[in-house]
Amino acid sequence: MKNLVLHTCCAPCLMGVYDALIGEADQITAIFYNPNIAPEEEYNKRRDACAAYASKQGITFVEVDPDPSDFLDNGQKAEEAQVRDTCQQRCFSCYLRRLDKTAQWAMDNVTKGGTYDSFATTLSISPWQNLEAINRAGAQIAQIHSGLTFVQFDFRSYYRDAQNKARISGIYRQNYCGCLPSKVEAEAHRAARRAARSTNSHKQAPANHK
Ligand code: SF4
Repeated sequence: MKNLVLHTCCAPCLMGVYDALIGEADQITAIFYNPNIAPEEEYNKRRDACAAYASKQGITFVEVDPDPSDFLDNGQKAEEAQVRDTCQQRCFSCYLRRLDKTAQWAMDNVTKGGTYDSFATTLSISPWQNLEAINRAGAQIAQIHSGLTFVQFDFRSYYRDAQNKARISGIYRQNYCGCLPSKVEAEAHRAARRAARSTNSHKQAPANHK
């Protein structure tokens, strides 16, 4: 691994992966290609946080404009999309689209150290993502871009530390994966946790508080 193109989903994940990768590659170029992120305001926040962090660290950062044909079902009602596709199908397709564009960018560009020989993704740091599906998608994409290797990292042990560092540094941290169905799922999950906490606190409350 000499010249690596790193698909980048958000600043906290970039922070963790970059720390883990220092010394592993001669050149690292961060590619922000995430047509899954909605709404646009959220997309802009994540992109700007990534660009600011990359600039501070001296990492080359490239935003590849979202290809309209790569958008997920964000234009439709999130609940409908959620019912139609299982989360697994949706995420695998999402990984494929993002990694394909990243690999294509690597094929079309050169760095000061020469051509790119590998690609990877910061998604590999998140315990919320399906690492097996990410690696399967990466291997599939590598087969159609000869000369490029998909590097199968498992950076999950860096996740907590990266999130803490981002929080302390005031770097934007999102609270859902990216697409509108994931926003609905995350909100439902948080509501269920709040409800469970509230039920538990009522159960534990002394009788004279009732
Ligand atoms: S949950 Fe995340 S990985 Fe899955 S489709 Fe939505 S944005 Fe993509």
